[in-house]
Amino acid sequence: MHIESIPMWEGSGNNYAYLVTDEKTKEAVIIDPANPSEVLPSLKKAVDGGTKVTNIINTHHHHDHAGGNAEILKTYKVPIIGGKDCDKVTKTPSHGETFTIGESIKVKAFHTPCHTQDSICYLFEDGNDKAVFTGDTLFIGGCGRFFEGTPKEMDKALNETLAALPDDTKVYPGHEYTKGNVKFAIKVAQSEPIKKLESFANSNKQTQGKFTIGDEKKHNVFMRLDDPAVQKFTSKTERVDVMAALREAKNSM
Ligand SMILES: [Zn+2]
Repeated sequence: MHIESIPMWEGSGNNYAYLVTDEKTKEAVIIDPANPSEVLPSLKKAVDGGTKVTNIINTHHHHDHAGGNAEILKTYKVPIIGGKDCDKVTKTPSHGETFTIGESIKVKAFHTPCHTQDSICYLFEDGNDKAVFTGDTLFIGGCGRFFEGTPKEMDKALNETLAALPDDTKVYPGHEYTKGNVKFAIKVAQSEPIKKLESFANSNKQTQGKFTIGDEKKHNVFMRLDDPAVQKFTSKTERVDVMAALREAKNSM
């Protein structure tokens, strides 16, 4: 599979849309094309080169993810796969439901309610190549705010659902937030993996697809609720309490 990152609102929202193409058939999906003026030129270029857009996919209903659907539909009349609250959604996959893109990409949907109740993460597999599109649930070195959910739900989303994916699955989040995340993480724990992430973030503007689920388990403090350093920072030991305290501390940073 070929993954093209399309940065949107650089310098403010720092969102990513992703165009994912099955190399054999050139069938492709566009994930979270929220800002059509930045996404349509990339789509046109791909389509002019023979790519066929088959679906819009949304990770959740927020405007900076699903807010471009209506405008994109004017040019590409394709079904929209996404959470139940996404604008113009035509199909909401159930938890664990699978579908294919072209001949070789197998997709599996995972419900990860918390940031929004309709948040879905999508695992894309093509042979040994694995990528997960996590929207605002999991970021590199961080996680989304709990707008519609609880610390218990985020613990389940990150540490049961996403943690169960193969360790070599590359992470493609909905925003480039790594610098801010690592600034917080280094206050929580000064571990080698976090220091490594910090130096990577300081020298690379884009970090999507550069880290795996295995890496997140090492440098993402929200996926290390049993880590003594994380418990010490939060002065809590129960997983949900640690999660709640971490989010609270990050919010007020
Ligand atoms: Zn969001």
